[in-house]
Amino acid sequence: MSEFECLVVGAGPSGAAAAVAAQRAGMSTLLIDAQPPRRDKTCGDGLTPRAVHTLRRLDLTDVLPPYRNLGLKLHGFGGDVTAPWPDGTFGSEGSAVPRAQFDASLVDRARTAGATVWHDCPATRVEREQGRISSVETPRGDIRPKWVIVADGVRSTLGKQLGRVWHRDQVYGIAARSYCESPESNEPWMHSHVELRDARGVLQPGYGWIFPLGDGTVNLGCGALSTDARPAKVNTKALLAQYAAQQRAKWGLGPERNVTSALLPMGGAVSNVAGPNWALVGDAAACVNPLNGEGIDYGLETAVRAVDLLREGHDLTLAWPHELRRTYGEAFTLARAAARLLTYPRFLPAVGPLGMRGAGARFLMPAAARLMGNLVTPEDTDLIARAWRAAGRAVPTGRALWDPS
Ligand SMILES: Cc1cc2nc3c(=O)[nH]c(=O)nc-3n(C[C@H](O)[C@H](O)[C@H](O)COP(=O)(O)OP(=O)(O)OC[C@H]3O[C@@H](n4cnc5c(N)ncnc54)[C@H](O)[C@@H]3O)c2cc1C
Repeated sequence: MSEFECLVVGAGPSGAAAAVAAQRAGMSTLLIDAQPPRRDKTCGDGLTPRAVHTLRRLDLTDVLPPYRNLGLKLHGFGGDVTAPWPDGTFGSEGSAVPRAQFDASLVDRARTAGATVWHDCPATRVEREQGRISSVETPRGDIRPKWVIVADGVRSTLGKQLGRVWHRDQVYGIAARSYCESPESNEPWMHSHVELRDARGVLQPGYGWIFPLGDGTVNLGCGALSTDARPAKVNTKALLAQYAAQQRAKWGLGPERNVTSALLPMGGAVSNVAGPNWALVGDAAACVNPLNGEGIDYGLETAVRAVDLLREGHDLTLAWPHELRRTYGEAFTLARAAARLLTYPRFLPAVGPLGMRGAGARFLMPAAARLMGNLVTPEDTDLIARAWRAAGRAVPTGRALWDPS
């Protein structure tokens, strides 16, 4: 039996940040991951200012490359909108890094902080006594931690054993990404195409992105929103190939490499995320923005916050879902409602032209881009932030914002 005060399961950004925070807080910490070092992760690789801000708080900005981006450029429905990152609570620096590199650097920092790191080491089974995790089985022996942070990602196999339920009646994402060489790799804007058409000009459900990485390549991908009632009828890999073909000349794109796809539970659409001495963080807790699929920032934040709570010795069973709802509840509720509208096939063609041209393009879309960049906080008091929060309170929460079931 190995005894560690804190066990972190999953060494993505959420798990690595949790391990850094726990070890620095004086807890002997073990970080384990099912996969080998430098594992890849299907992602757009974009880091919002909110993610960069949390890295700065953790004194981890040295994991970032020199490349910085300035904001979003949205294209489609006859318009182009430029939305610089606002200089608010989080600052205005975004970045983008291939995940294999970013995640490995964060794991290195966890090790430097003093955490023990085991790769190729899945948590396979948990034992519980009155809800508390008493022991976690791994191929390297059983661990008997005082606290467990479950950061095992979208599928959250350990979370499932602990009772985590994903509600597919809520909106979720399906997405594919690739890497392409491009001479425009230093372009300082993240690009998003909100109108995708096939070769015959038929509007496709979904959106595309090109996120320059500053290393001679871009991350090119596409995604669509779905619910069980209205599943997006789209083959994301085929759509990605079409999109790359359409953008090839403009970006001087090389062939798409490493094409992978994944599902994304979003907007807190899971239940049972905590017990007395354990909490799910990051993707495992569906902490992903329903409007754009970004979750690295929330993963880093939830990791740090969960460690704060367990340091204070709280029983996490109700404290953790309460904390998630307090911090993200209004924003996620509203984003989920907006994203649900986007799953109606007629919605986007009707409102897209209004948003992307004229006054909509000047006022509406920059505000939307701020919301898409996860850049509104409870501390912000400007008009957009207040309107967003008021709308969040007005929309019925519905089921499954991290509720215990
Ligand atoms: C196509 C796509 C594009 C995206 N684009 C962006 C973007 O541009 N920007 C952004 O911010 N977010 C983006 N996201 C979301 C982002 O990828 C996730 O929010 C982020 O990876 C969450 O990090 P995490 O640490 O919670 O989970 P993960 O990064 O998935 O890490 C989980 C880790 O847990 C390990 N694990 C799983 N089970 C076990 C087990 N039983 N025992 C031990 N280890 C285990 C896995 O091996 C993995 O390493 C995108 C997602 C998709 C699918």
